[in-house]
Order: sequence, then structure tokens, then C-alpha cells
Amino acid sequence: MAKYTPMIEQYLAVKEQAQDAFLFFRLGDFYEMFFEDAVKASRELEITLTGREGGGEERIPMCGVPYHSAEGYIQRLIEKGYKVAICEQMDDPAVTKGMVHREIVRVVTPGTIMEGKTIADKSNNYLVCVTESDRMMSLAACDISTGELYVTSVPSSVEWLRDEIGIYEPAEMIGDSSMLELIQAEQIQWSRPVVYTPWEKKDEKLVRSQFGEAAWARLDPERQHCVSVLISYLSETQRRSLGQLTQFSPYEPGHYMILDPFTRRNLELVETVRDRSKKGSLLWLLDRSQTSMGARLLRRWIDKPLLNRKAIEERLEAVDHLYNQFILREDLKASLNEIYDLERLVARIAFGNANGRDLNALKVSLQQIPALKELCASSASSTLRRIAGEMDECRDLSEAIERTIVEDPPVSVRDGGLIKPGCHEHLDELREASVNGKRWIAELEAKEREATGIRSLKIGFNKVFGYFIEVTKANVGSLPDGRYERKQTLANAERYVTPELKEKEGLILEAQEKMVDLEYVLFTELREKLASEISRLQLLAEKVAELDVYQSLSAVSAEQGFVKPVLTDGYDLVVEAGRHPVVEAVMKDASFIANATRLTRDEAAILLITGPNMAGKSTYMRQVALISIMAQIGCFVPAGKAEVPMIDRIFTRIGAADDLIGGQSTFMVEMADIQVMTEKATPRSLIIIDELGRGTSTSEGMAIAQAVIEYVHDTIGCKSLVSTHFHELAHLEESLKGLRNYSMAVQESGENVLFLRKLVPGPAGSSYGIYCARLAGLPSSIIGRAYTLLQGLEQGASQAAVGLETVQQPQAASVEIPAAPEPEASKVFEVHEEPVKMAGGVVQLSIFEE
Ligand code: ADP
Repeated sequence: MAKYTPMIEQYLAVKEQAQDAFLFFRLGDFYEMFFEDAVKASRELEITLTGREGGGEERIPMCGVPYHSAEGYIQRLIEKGYKVAICEQMDDPAVTKGMVHREIVRVVTPGTIMEGKTIADKSNNYLVCVTESDRMMSLAACDISTGELYVTSVPSSVEWLRDEIGIYEPAEMIGDSSMLELIQAEQIQWSRPVVYTPWEKKDEKLVRSQFGEAAWARLDPERQHCVSVLISYLSETQRRSLGQLTQFSPYEPGHYMILDPFTRRNLELVETVRDRSKKGSLLWLLDRSQTSMGARLLRRWIDKPLLNRKAIEERLEAVDHLYNQFILREDLKASLNEIYDLERLVARIAFGNANGRDLNALKVSLQQIPALKELCASSASSTLRRIAGEMDECRDLSEAIERTIVEDPPVSVRDGGLIKPGCHEHLDELREASVNGKRWIAELEAKEREATGIRSLKIGFNKVFGYFIEVTKANVGSLPDGRYERKQTLANAERYVTPELKEKEGLILEAQEKMVDLEYVLFTELREKLASEISRLQLLAEKVAELDVYQSLSAVSAEQGFVKPVLTDGYDLVVEAGRHPVVEAVMKDASFIANATRLTRDEAAILLITGPNMAGKSTYMRQVALISIMAQIGCFVPAGKAEVPMIDRIFTRIGAADDLIGGQSTFMVEMADIQVMTEKATPRSLIIIDELGRGTSTSEGMAIAQAVIEYVHDTIGCKSLVSTHFHELAHLEESLKGLRNYSMAVQESGENVLFLRKLVPGPAGSSYGIYCARLAGLPSSIIGRAYTLLQGLEQGASQAAVGLETVQQPQAASVEIPAAPEPEASKVFEVHEEPVKMAGGVVQLSIFEE
């Protein structure tokens, strides 16, 4: 058997502990990788693969990166979804006999990165842990770069888990392997790749000391379990104190509006459907935040609209006040703009990797607080005054930094030049000694010139030889014998030292070394002092973030002409002149057409909307949902007037091209969604279904659509907007008391159709699908043929419907829609007057030729 060299043996032993990570093995100035890691890393990082004798029969594949530029390489591997274990030399190789001891000091994983471009300023980077115990599912989400830690739980439900994970968009998930499998089986297309690591160990002792017995005891057992598993993973990977995790925030999912991942996507709350970019989303529109923590909090508010009317009204009060106070808003904005990312700065301080510049950034930020506080304290808004009352200026901390750190410190904290003069007596003495020494050396130059008569004699310094006296070759003969010891020969000069120069050099260098060490000690003392006050700083960061969100929401509201919604605990949703905030904002030439909405218990809670493609149906339905969400996060809404009830869940089924998930058909996905809706929707929910019943045969689709609508009407009783291309369903208005027909008005003039984008009572006349095909530029021969076929189909429609009544019945019954009253067949397939009229229009359109 081949035996490796001791170094490779050491490598293999360390690698044992980090099998799922790339091992960055420190060898002098490089991190080296060996064996499989090297082969894979050279490919992923595009670096040269070399080899090394390691005592075995074959050369060992090897590649490496310089330690000072390792950060960038680590980032790249993390971005690709890998983990990187960093193994350092624990002894100083200069003073160690034999092999230095090496240890893994940290495992960097996608969910535990602290800095770098991988974590965008304005967003979070979550590690999510999921566990199950006593038929309760728990979820803990932690961002160690900001110090946030949320925890919640519910009776076991995969849908809930999916919804909740969707909110955090984790970079990495850990926890019960069975639960991770469950999630993976759902095949959800998260907006970023997720790394799954089964992890079931927990660390009760650590959590107790981390959060304190009292806080810990207040947490439910199943949540304790989840947090404990999460912390154990963090401690195993980070291998240092996690001072930034000072507290956890437990919450009840039932206190927030529920938005499943599909609804969040369909409504484009934080990213667009098309290219998953923030631009074009609701978050993009509302985000005028000046600070990164404000941006992240706004995102959290959008992710979790409130259900508690009083709490929302408190937010609205501040937004309302700032809406009307332009100058105050601008002052706040200017002040907030000077504040750095407090949460991340403070987390780095606690983590022990903040440098002098970070401390100064903290200082500058803290210096803004008194002004900010004063602005809030003197305002007429009770919410702003409350925030002022809760703001700790942390003056002692900013003053401590001010006293200690120079104005423009270097990046490194190990090379000195950080600490202000006058801050520490001994440091000043050392500095004095060093400065005096340098002065002495400068004076020596003059003395030596005089003594030797060599006018070109110079004193210089380099790292290898220290201080030296330099004399040109021509003048060497003029040097007296004895005192000058030759150190270095250059092309045309010689360098010497003298005993007194050596002695002084010793003193200067010693003073300098001591100075650098002392500066580092003083710096870390200050950093630790700040770290010990972390709770105060984190609380302050929260207040700043909240203020920034009010500033942001009020600025957009004022700019876009939004109005303050009237919140109610009732049922009715009544909007006058409502608009889609984002479509309106991006519309350049045309102006957005406002539409009213009345979803009431007494009149109609279901609007059945028909109208041709492109008429504006889905924009309208989305706008109603967005108005509710905006109101419930505490923002003004795009409307003339709005009375908004507390909606507990928005359920959307909006057909889009990207419906195919894991190979399921559009229709199956739709039915699965509808099934969840039938189970979860309450009378306080809002349902939005676009193009109900697509993806199967016309008659079946229509049958299912009717059955679903009846179920929503009779059994769920919630507010709903349903669009369909089956205008035949319009008859439902007669049998369902709470349903009204509406359509998007169009104006026909000759061969053209003009979309008016106006919601009008009554069903639409035709679906104009072929007209749209023509708009899209299909050849006129196809368009002409389609019109002819359509006419034929519509004439035959009544006979077909009669036939289907018997043939299709068993299939329709096999669709699982619980407790739905059996539709009366005659109603489902009732043939309307409309198609005949439409055929008339069609003929007119079909004569169009290019
Ligand atoms: P549908 O769902 O009926 O096919 P959409 O809602 O997708 O139609 O609307 C099509 C396009 O019409 C949108 O992309 C938007 O640009 C425009 N639009 C929709 N509603 C309005 C409106 N109220 N005012 C102005 N333009 C609108």
C-alpha cells in the first residue's frame, strides 16, 4: 500500500472532516487543493491543475490560489452552490520544528456568507432550517450577515412549508432529511439555486448561552428544537462566536396575509415573471429607501402584509404624515442617506472581521442619529414620535470610535496606522521613540557626511538589510577603516552599517513592532467593546429601517398620487378609480385607464369577467390584489378612493407560459392549485383566477369552471375575480346571487377593435382571438381559414353540447372538487345568443386582406 508524506496524511485527515466542501489547505502563501478537489476546482475556477509527489505511486493532482486573493475564488465557488472549508496553519511556521498544526477555521456555505458581492446590499441571505416534531413543522430562518433570526411553526402541512420557504428564498436549507426530500420533491423553481444539507444534530447548551435562559424558556418546544438544530449547524461551520445573533423573533404565520409562491410570482411582488428581475416588480416601485436595512425591511413588509388593522393604521399614520410634509420627508431622506448598513456593520463587528473603515462607517452613521431623532421627536406623527423615543443615539459608542480611530484608516488592521495620537499613552511613547529614532538617523546622515567628507553619502532603508549607509564606488576609498561593515554591493555603490546605526535600528524597529501590536490590541479592544453593545446597535438599526420604509412609502405615494386607504374589519372591498401601480408607472405614452371595483357581501362578491385577449382583464384583477396588499403593508394605494377589508390570503391562479412545473400539464397544475384553494380559502380570502378552465376540452373546461365558481360562491363565500373566455358562463349571473358579469369594453370600428380598458357591466360579445392572431401578424390565409372554421364550429355547438351531456358526465364527476353541487347540465351547455352575433362581426373582419 502506498504511504503518503506526512503533509498529505495531514491533509487527508483534515479532509475527512469536510467531505462535502472544497478544502482550502493553507501552505505558506497559498491555499492548495489536492486529489478530486483539485481536479474539480481547476475546472470550476479555471486555474491550472498541476501535480505533486506525495509519497504515493502517482503524482497527486494539485491546484492552488494565493491566500491574499482567495476571497474572490471562494465567492465563485459559493455562487456555484459549493461549500468551502478553510484550513489554516495554527502555529507560526517560522518557529515551529517539524510540521505545523492545521485546522479548519471556518466552512463557508451559501447560507452563511458574511460579505462580498454574493450578498447584495439590499437583500437578505437566508439559511433556513426545517424540522418536524409532534406533528408540528417548524422553520427557522437566519441571516448571519445581518443578525436576523426568525422562527415559526404550524401543524404539519407541506403547502405551508412551501409558502414560508418562498418568503425567505434561502440560499441554503438544512434540517430533517425527510423534510428536505419533501421540499425537493415539490420541484419548485426558486429564484436562486438552493443547497440542501441534511442536518439533525442540535446543541441545546449553546443556544441557552447564546440567547439566555429566560428568552429560551419562552420559546415553544418544537421551535426550540428547530433553532437548536440551526445553531448547531452554524457553530459547526463558523467555529466562532455568533455574537450578532442576540435574539430570535418568533412569529405566528396566522398574523400575516398568506401569499403562496405562485401568487407572489404572479403578482410580481418582488420580481417579474419574465426575467425574475426586481425592476418592474412592486418592490421596485415602492423602494425609495435610502439605507440597505430599509430596503430589506420593505421587502419583508411586502412579503408579510399584516392582518391587524390597528398595526397597519399605525404605519399608515406615519406614511400619511410624511406624505403631507414634503420638507420633513426630504430632511429625513438626506439624513438617512448618510447612514451605512448598520445591521451588516454590526454583524461584522460581532463576528470579528470588521476593520477600521467599518468602525468609521458606524461612527458616521451614528452621528446622524441625533438629527434624525430630533426630526421625528418634533413631528406631529405619533408613530414617528414613538420611533424617536425608542432611538438610542449610542453617543458613547460613536465618541469612542471618534477618540480612537484615525480619519482614514488602512484596510488592514494588522499593520498599524489605525489609532489616533493622544488616545493611549504608551502608544504615543512608542511613536515618539520611533519618530525620534528616525530624526536621529536623518541627523546621522549629516554627521557622517561631515566626518567622511563624502558629500553624496546617503542613509537608506530596505526590508532585507534595514538601515544602511550608501557610498558610491568612487568614494569608497575615502571611508575611514574599522567602523564600517559592508552589507551589500550594488553596481556602483556599496552599503555599510555601523554599530551605532545597528543599535538605533534595533530600537526603531522594536518600537515599530510594538506599536503595530499595540494598535491591534487597542483596535480589537474597541471592537469588542462595540460588540458587547450589539443589542443596542441592532435595536437602533431596526428603528432606522422602519423610518426609512415610512420615508420610502410616503415618497412613492406622493409621487404616484396614491391615496390613503380606509381599512375595515368588514367584508366589502370598494375601490374607486383603481389603477395597477406598476403598469401605470411604466406606461410612457398612454395614460392608464382607472377602473372601479365593488366586491360586497350584499351585491356581488364574485365578478365574472369576459373580454378579448389583451383587453386588460388580468391587469385589472392583479391591480385589485395589489391594492389590498399595499393597503395591508401600510402604504397608500393607487386609487381615487379605497375601502379595504383585512384579506387573510390571496389566492391567484393566473395562467402563464411558464406553467409547466416538473412536466405537469397546465391543466393538472391548475387543478392542483384549485384543490389547495378549496381547502384553504376562507370567507376573508381573495381569489383571482385568470382563464379558468383552460387546457382541457371546451365542454369539460366549461363544466369545471362552472362547478368551481359555484363552489366558491356557495361554500367558500370569499371575494373573487374570475376571468374566462367562456362567455357561455355568463348565464351564471341568473343562478348565483353573488355573481355579476363584467367585461372589458372594446369598440369595434370596421375591421379594427379598439381596447377601451374599461370594466363595464355585462358579458363580452366575443373573444376576438382570431383578431389577436391577426394583430400578431399571422398570414392572412390562416386568419381567413380560422374564421371559416370558427363559424362552422359555432353553428355545431348546440348539437355538440347535447351530445356531451351524457358522454362527459362520468369524467366531470371524477374531478375532485369537494361538496360541489352537481351542475345542471342544461345550464352548463346552454348556448348563448352571443356567438351568433359574433359570427356576424367575424365575417366583417374576415374580409380583411393584406
Ligand atoms: P388580458 O388579460 O385581457 O389579455 P392584459 O391585462 O394582459 O389583458 O392587458 C394587456 C395590456 O393592456 C397590458 O400589458 C397593458 O399594457 C394594457 N392595459 C391593461 N389594462 C390597462 C389599463 N387599465 N389602462 C391602460 N392600459 C392597460
